[in-house]
Amino acid sequence: MDDSTTHGSASGLDAVRAGIRQAAEDNGRDPAEVTLVAVSKIMPAEAIAPVLAAGQRVFGENYVQEAKAKWPALRERYPDTELHLVGPLQSNKAREAVELFDVIHSLDRLSLAAALAKEIERTGRRPKLLIQVNTGEEEQKGGVIPAQLDTLLAECRDTHGLAINGLMCIPPAEDPPSAHFALLARAAERHNLPILSMGMSADYPAAIQMGATHVRVGTAIFGERPRRA
Ligand SMILES: *Cc1c(COP(=O)(O)O)cnc(C)c1O
Repeated sequence: MDDSTTHGSASGLDAVRAGIRQAAEDNGRDPAEVTLVAVSKIMPAEAIAPVLAAGQRVFGENYVQEAKAKWPALRERYPDTELHLVGPLQSNKAREAVELFDVIHSLDRLSLAAALAKEIERTGRRPKLLIQVNTGEEEQKGGVIPAQLDTLLAECRDTHGLAINGLMCIPPAEDPPSAHFALLARAAERHNLPILSMGMSADYPAAIQMGATHVRVGTAIFGERPRRA
């Protein structure tokens, strides 16, 4: 991969913006209904700066500690940045997550709902909350299985007083994604949830076709991620 797509430029961002516009128009949707979450996990601040400079203000991170290390300084320069947690969240990190993030995409169990509710109460900060659905019912993946979604939603609301704003999924790598996107879209519609977080670098046009309001795109913007040690 040439250097311009890995560091120091925002050409990947331009391409993804164009891709979102195209997919929206192809499906009779307003491109403004689709929010691009630029997933900057593992990318150093130097790789994120040009994307901020190009006007992108919504970013996704996977790891609470990494985000805490990178974002306070970047946010000082760009205070209107919105930060999304897209990776799995351990209950013992709920405090830091509520303090740092504006949207949490990975609520998937009652114990985590309890931890988040406690921190929301304590801090008065109210990040938007999405429930992650494990549409492929994969053992190694986070998310509530579809058959348990209704119960989790009800318990989040009734037991913990949490407002749930939407749903998120990561389809199995080996499956065509559209059936998973359709399942998630139907569930969101059934429960009147406005946010539909689905679609990554490889499949965001399909997700937009199925109604995604938020696409989470990393590699197509920042280039391949360096391997973690
Ligand atoms: C890494 C990640 C993404 C971005 O994936 P790309 O294929 O690099 O676009 C999106 N969502 C989640 C939950 C991720 O962990």
